[in-house]
Formats: sequence, C-alpha cells, structure tokens
Amino acid sequence: MAETCPHLAYREKGDGRSFDTARAFCTVTESFVQPMRADVCNARYGLDPATDCEFYVEPEPTEGEGEGETPDADR
Ligand code: SF4
Repeated sequence: MAETCPHLAYREKGDGRSFDTARAFCTVTESFVQPMRADVCNARYGLDPATDCEFYVEPEPTEGEGEGETPDADR
C-alpha cells in the first residue's frame, strides 16, 4: 500500500524562494514540488512515490529497523 513519500517535507523557505505558508518540498531534488507531482508525493489516486516518481530513492535504512532482530546481533 502506497504511503506518502518519505522525502516529502513542508517548508516556507528554500530553492531561493520563500512563502507565507509551508509548501511541499522534495528533499531529494532540494526543490519545491510542482502541484501536479504533489499527487505522487502524497500517494493520491493510487499513485506510488516509489514507482511513479523518477526522483525517488530508497530511504536510508534507520538503525534498529527490522522486527525481531536483536539490536546488537552484529556487534
Ligand atoms: S515523490 Fe518524488 S518528488 Fe515527491 S517527495 Fe518523493 S522523491 Fe520527491
């Protein structure tokens, strides 16, 4: 099931511009998201950021991820 893109942020400033209200910002491209693409970022209409966005990259694995694993198994 598609979820909102992990790279989607909301910023009032960035990309050399600033706005009164926070706008959708992509942390991969480091630029504000175009309104049309925002549907992909928010996984609306059955869109999936992972497959429908050419900028999408796998998020960095966070430490302690993976259920059932012993946290210090490889120490
Ligand atoms: S869907 Fe694409 S454009 Fe939108 S935040 Fe994710 S990587 Fe960026």
